[in-house]
Amino acid sequence: MLQFPPVKKHVAILGSTGSIGTQALDVLRAHPDAFEIDTLIAHSNASLLIAQAREFVPGTVVIGHEAKYTEVRDALADLPIKVFAGQEAIVQMMEQESTEIVLTACVGYAGLKPTLAAIAAGKHIALANKETLVVAGELVTALAREKGVNIYPVDSEHSAIFQCLAGEWENPIEKIYLTASGGPFRGKDKTFLSTVKREQALKHPNWAMGAKITIDSASLMNKGLEVIEARWLFNLRPEQIDVIVHPQSIIHSLVQFRDGSMKAQMGLPDMKLPIQYALGYPKRLDADFPRFNFMNYPSLSFETPDKETFRNLQLAYEALEKGGNMPCILNAANEVAVQAFLEERIGFLALSETVEYTMQHCSFLPKPSYDDYVQTDAEARRIAEEFCRQPAHQA
Ligand code: NDP
Ligand code: MG
Repeated sequence: MLQFPPVKKHVAILGSTGSIGTQALDVLRAHPDAFEIDTLIAHSNASLLIAQAREFVPGTVVIGHEAKYTEVRDALADLPIKVFAGQEAIVQMMEQESTEIVLTACVGYAGLKPTLAAIAAGKHIALANKETLVVAGELVTALAREKGVNIYPVDSEHSAIFQCLAGEWENPIEKIYLTASGGPFRGKDKTFLSTVKREQALKHPNWAMGAKITIDSASLMNKGLEVIEARWLFNLRPEQIDVIVHPQSIIHSLVQFRDGSMKAQMGLPDMKLPIQYALGYPKRLDADFPRFNFMNYPSLSFETPDKETFRNLQLAYEALEKGGNMPCILNAANEVAVQAFLEERIGFLALSETVEYTMQHCSFLPKPSYDDYVQTDAEARRIAEEFCRQPAHQA
């Protein structure tokens, strides 16, 4: 019998040096027959990008930070790898003909332009960069529909929903429940939160992640962003999306169908599983990840989130209800506030205060275009930055 060699999926990774990017490379390293890396893209971590390029020998690497270009080029001069630098090169690389799927694993608003370019070029997206859907979910999903592009969720909750929906495409969703660990400050009050320092907020109980999403998890903004992300991924109304705190992070999310039946996806918390599912879809690939043992978790517990103390979750629902450019405003203000918190310029409670103030003061547009989003992002950042600089909000 004729044996055909397995067809490899060609992948580009936007943000290969980050938490998701490096775990994605673990997945690809474990499946050399399933994937081929076309492009690796990083922003500033030249030494790690060089090491990754030397190991995987992709056709192209791009370093966003242009000052690092010669360092990367010289270190890879003996290999058949094209090296580029700068944001425009990143956008151009999204259009490479051979690439089938782009893993968007960069952080924040910076992911929007390259993701739109990838979709416009007909590339499927394995989406980790949730901020892209928060900022411009309507634009991104409309373009994906027009181009026949699939957006596969990498976020563990959305991957869980996606896995529960396999074989259910004709069955309408009544409701989804996104689970939340509650973060390191679950159960704490505002008096406690007013004393929280950067290092405490950077210690997540169940997941090791990049700095921005770790702060977002502590402030519950991450769950707010995920509510908006779910609205666009699964075409739901805000009232169909609920959040439930589940401190053990074993049930990764649930879908409820119109007959009342609920499906959940569960397992030990490990981002490599949703990354692998998104890249390998529709196949489930082998994995030697540790298996869940019921006896280690005799009880799984659930609580209502405290939206009063953790204002961000409530603000995200309000932004979603309001629509237009409001989620873009929320996201920009949050990115500024998280950066200011990480630089120890503002306190923990000022995270949501910055977002709320910016949502009240930034120009609202009900039907934004791409250019409107660019302007909204800039205006919201200016307002948020000014708010953070006021002496009353400083750490
Ligand atoms: P990290 O901060 O660990 O990594 C970010 C990556 O993006 C790095 O490779 C960084 O490059 C690169 N990068 C930063 N700025 C730019 C830019 N302007 N252009 C291109 N690349 C850039 O983040 P995470 O991996 O934690 O998160 C990535 C995304 O995935 C976020 O949107 C996050 O919300 C989402 N996510 C993450 C999860 C996790 O477990 N970490 C879970 C679910 C979702 P360099 O390091 O070279 O500067
Ligand atoms: Mg998540």
